[in-house]
Amino acid sequence: ESKGAGRGRVTVFDPDMLSEKRQRRLLERELRAAVYLNELELHYQVITDTERNRAAVEGLVRWRHPVRGMISPGEFIPIAERSSLIDMIGEWVFRRACLDLHRFPDNRISINVSGEQLKRDGLVHMLDRVLQETDAQANRFILEITETVATAATPEIIARIVRLREMGFHIALDDFGTGHCGFNYIKTLPIDAIKIDRSYIHNLDDDRIAQVFVSALTQIARIQDLVIVAEGIETEEEFRLARSAGCNRFQGYYLGKPQPLPPFREAPGLTERRALALSA
Ligand code: C2E
Ligand code: MG
Ligand code: MG
Ligand code: MG
Repeated sequence: ESKGAGRGRVTVFDPDMLSEKRQRRLLERELRAAVYLNELELHYQVITDTERNRAAVEGLVRWRHPVRGMISPGEFIPIAERSSLIDMIGEWVFRRACLDLHRFPDNRISINVSGEQLKRDGLVHMLDRVLQETDAQANRFILEITETVATAATPEIIARIVRLREMGFHIALDDFGTGHCGFNYIKTLPIDAIKIDRSYIHNLDDDRIAQVFVSALTQIARIQDLVIVAEGIETEEEFRLARSAGCNRFQGYYLGKPQPLPPFREAPGLTERRALALSA
């Protein structure tokens, strides 16, 4: 870059010409603003039981960018994790889920917690504060922690997970099978559920290793009284195979895609009461 091309020169903004680092910084700044500009959305994907009844829902964050359109969490969560932004987004997600609880009166909401959030004690305080602010119960939530985080967990992180469980949260190990999945972790970690990564579910039809892995896991889970969720069910066949392998919860496009909540229409009773209050 020559010095002559400096001040006062009019240039056409071309994002492709930005270095990766500058692009990331730009996205980071925009992301910080996105929280205030209300550009984040929490979509929900159903988790079913063996009969296809809704057993829980997982909240998945999305960013509705005014120019780039919908951005997936796989793109912006890693950027947020590089700074305190992840705490801000984590708080936004949890508050949104607390406020949406009444839309799922019979189901728990599962929420993804970043490994970066788990490294700091602020997480416990934030969750506690938001629960109080929204008058929500911890036992209505499942906190999903990725297997990689759990297996690399320090004593502080383990203690934090124990603390969250004491508060009433349920804990699930997400993306199980993608990390250094020692079966011994299942015995020692304070968890309630294991979500088997979709790569195993996808290969259940013809991969012996995937079959043995999943059925061993479901047998251990039965002894340990854990819920086993099969992730990424895309076909009737995968649903059938995961069921016969002994999984007891199912999630995937075949059973339902992540979707925004339809607008909430207040029950007539509530509107009436409000109208009465206004006329009083
Ligand atoms: P995850 O927690 O393992 O979530 C499951 C991902 O698989 C979601 O992608 C979901 O849309 C996708 N999925 C569900 N069913 C199927 C299927 O049948 N086939 C395929 N191919 N994919 C399926 P999504 O929403 O893009 O999220 C990606 C990841 O981003 C999540 O993986 C999670 O690790 C992270 N994430 C999402 N929301 C949050 C959040 O609020 N906080 C944090 N920290 N991370 C989040
Ligand atoms: Mg998850
Ligand atoms: Mg997963
Ligand atoms: Mg994942």
